[in-house]
Amino acid sequence: MIYDVIVVGAGASGLVAAMSAAKRGARVCILEAKNSAGKSILTSGNGRCNFSNANLDAGHYNDPEFVTTVFGPNPKETVTKFFESLGLWYITDEEGRMFPRSRAATSVLNVVMNRVKALGIEILYNAKVQYAEPPQDKQESWKIHTEEGQCFQAGKVIWCAGGGSSKYLSNLKLPVVHEQKTLCPLAVTPKPPKYLNGVRAWCLVTVSDNHKKILFKETGEVLWRPYGISGIVIFNASRLSHPGDTIELDFVEEKSEEELKNDLDKRLLTFDDRSDIQKDFLEGVLHPALSDFIMHLPGVIKDKHIDTACLAHALKHLNYKIESPADTEHAQITKGGLDTKSFDANTMSSYEYPTFYACGEVLNIDAPCGGYNLSWAWLSALKAADSI
Ligand SMILES: Cc1cc2nc3c(=O)[nH]c(=O)nc-3n(C[C@H](O)[C@H](O)[C@H](O)COP(=O)(O)OP(=O)(O)OC[C@H]3O[C@@H](n4cnc5c(N)ncnc54)[C@H](O)[C@@H]3O)c2cc1C
Repeated sequence: MIYDVIVVGAGASGLVAAMSAAKRGARVCILEAKNSAGKSILTSGNGRCNFSNANLDAGHYNDPEFVTTVFGPNPKETVTKFFESLGLWYITDEEGRMFPRSRAATSVLNVVMNRVKALGIEILYNAKVQYAEPPQDKQESWKIHTEEGQCFQAGKVIWCAGGGSSKYLSNLKLPVVHEQKTLCPLAVTPKPPKYLNGVRAWCLVTVSDNHKKILFKETGEVLWRPYGISGIVIFNASRLSHPGDTIELDFVEEKSEEELKNDLDKRLLTFDDRSDIQKDFLEGVLHPALSDFIMHLPGVIKDKHIDTACLAHALKHLNYKIESPADTEHAQITKGGLDTKSFDANTMSSYEYPTFYACGEVLNIDAPCGGYNLSWAWLSALKAADSI
């Protein structure tokens, strides 16, 4: 059997590419390494699937020029119309993040799978592709070889096997940008004390390199772990930072250090001699474990008195050195991948192999948390299917 199109990977981009190609009359088969489809859709957004964002500006991505061409003029409308056509009801939260109305990732996968089934698309599970053999001449088809020794043929291949899957394409000699797991926690030095494990605080997070160049600045909730720090804002920082960079937490973003010192001086006047000032001074300002940590930093208490200048500085500049990405097993994406320079953003096809298409995370396109990465998967898949 020779298919019109073989899609490799039944994840976010693969299911949509297959569906859209089949809708246009192509005979499509999906090869999927696992025993079920869309596992990454189900785990996304903590099981709620933040499937898109109301502001899909290409500036959120690492390669805005390529993304702009793929997205076209109205990416949000393209995504919402597509999901509306599948019958998905959705909500948009105050940060612009879009979720299924049910807040259940299964809703997104189910509406997609219902249409995949209705279109009669064949999905072969436990079919892990090892390599793709290009056609020798225009009459020949692609031969897709699986780990199990099977070979499938098709006129066109859409590669949708996700982050890190470029290794299966090494025989094609397409340029690859170094791949690295990201959108994950960060291991830092000094290591936070164990008693901070699980503590959260809202901070302005700034990452700067050795030359003090600011690489990242965003406000969000930081979560302390024994190896370092986590939370969505830290995931976003991990994407733009490197080992050796400095990450600074500012607990009182709304005040300058001087204003904060003045406020702390006034606050000091409200404490009398009977107070356990070291324990109580930051009550209501920070989580008790975090206030304990800050109050014990060198220089904050001198001769049983609070040095408000030192405390204001500590609250504005809690600094760590970034050691490495952490807990990468659970990282949300892989940055790097197939170099976009060797692909046409108008079609998603390779310049070297015009019947080979790539979509989703396998390409060197990444973005912060917020529904941008799934949006890239959907929109790049729709673009490829359009041109097929
Ligand atoms: C925990 C977690 C939470 C996330 N939350 C969000 C979120 O809320 N919003 C958001 O926008 N993004 C989120 N993401 C990122 C998002 O899921 C991915 O960017 C998106 O799924 C990428 O789509 P894809 O089609 O490129 O790859 P995938 O969806 O990963 O699909 C790739 C498919 O290919 C299969 N495959 C791999 N290798 C082979 C092979 N050799 N042969 C055959 N099949 C193969 C895989 O089994 C998989 O089914 C999250 C990711 C994770 C891990």
